Amino acid sequence: MTITHTARGIWKPPLWVTPLPEEPPHGIYLRLAERNGFHRIGHFENATGIKLRQVRLGRDLDHLAGMLRCEPRHLNGALIKHQEQGPPIVGGEAIRRKDLMIVGRRACPACLAASAHHRFWWDLRFVSTCPIHAIRLTCRCSCGGKLTWADGSLAKCRTCEDGDVRLLPFEPASCKVIALDRWILSRFGILNSNESVVVIHKLLSAKRSRLSRGLGLLPSVVIALAGRKLLTSTCRRRKCGQ
Ligand SMILES: [Zn+2]
Ligand SMILES: [Zn+2]
Repeated sequence: MTITHTARGIWKPPLWVTPLPEEPPHGIYLRLAERNGFHRIGHFENATGIKLRQVRLGRDLDHLAGMLRCEPRHLNGALIKHQEQGPPIVGGEAIRRKDLMIVGRRACPACLAASAHHRFWWDLRFVSTCPIHAIRLTCRCSCGGKLTWADGSLAKCRTCEDGDVRLLPFEPASCKVIALDRWILSRFGILNSNESVVVIHKLLSAKRSRLSRGLGLLPSVVIALAGRKLLTSTCRRRKCGQ
């Protein structure tokens, strides 16, 4: 069904975008602002009457769907679910609230070059690489500025004119960290990681039960967090910089 008016009947941007795979509603919202020529998300929020942070929390999705001329169920709203009580649910997995990036923004320069849309897993603090391209995620624009959700573009920060994350040199990542991230993404239905599971289990066999008991989160996320810590400390000892 085509919607011709938003639920609140207020301004609707003339151009719209189509939700893409792995794209959370707040990523769609930023892309919509950019498509309509807004350089800062705040200006777009004033025009539309809805805030990005509300969209992030799963609110105003009917309004956003109206602006996109689609149904709310097409917005991938289930990717990240915030609950009044209890931890956020990402792709069916419970995670700690502090593991979700809220203000800062990250991106894989190669993913963005392939398709200029945000991927929900870039918001997960315990993912630091893109296993698809075997490089580190960046939190910086090519001008050096920090990427945030106040920017009006997915590919650059709001302080420069012609920065572009896609022009950044790719930063190679440690193969162990990539293996871990590949395994994490497989928990969310992205990528396949039979090989990684072997790596993770080898690394964490001694720590798994204690951590699962202590933190009370789903084992997969606990293992991911523990794996990150273990890999970081191992690599620090080896001075490999990852
Ligand atoms: Zn990538
Ligand atoms: Zn910049």
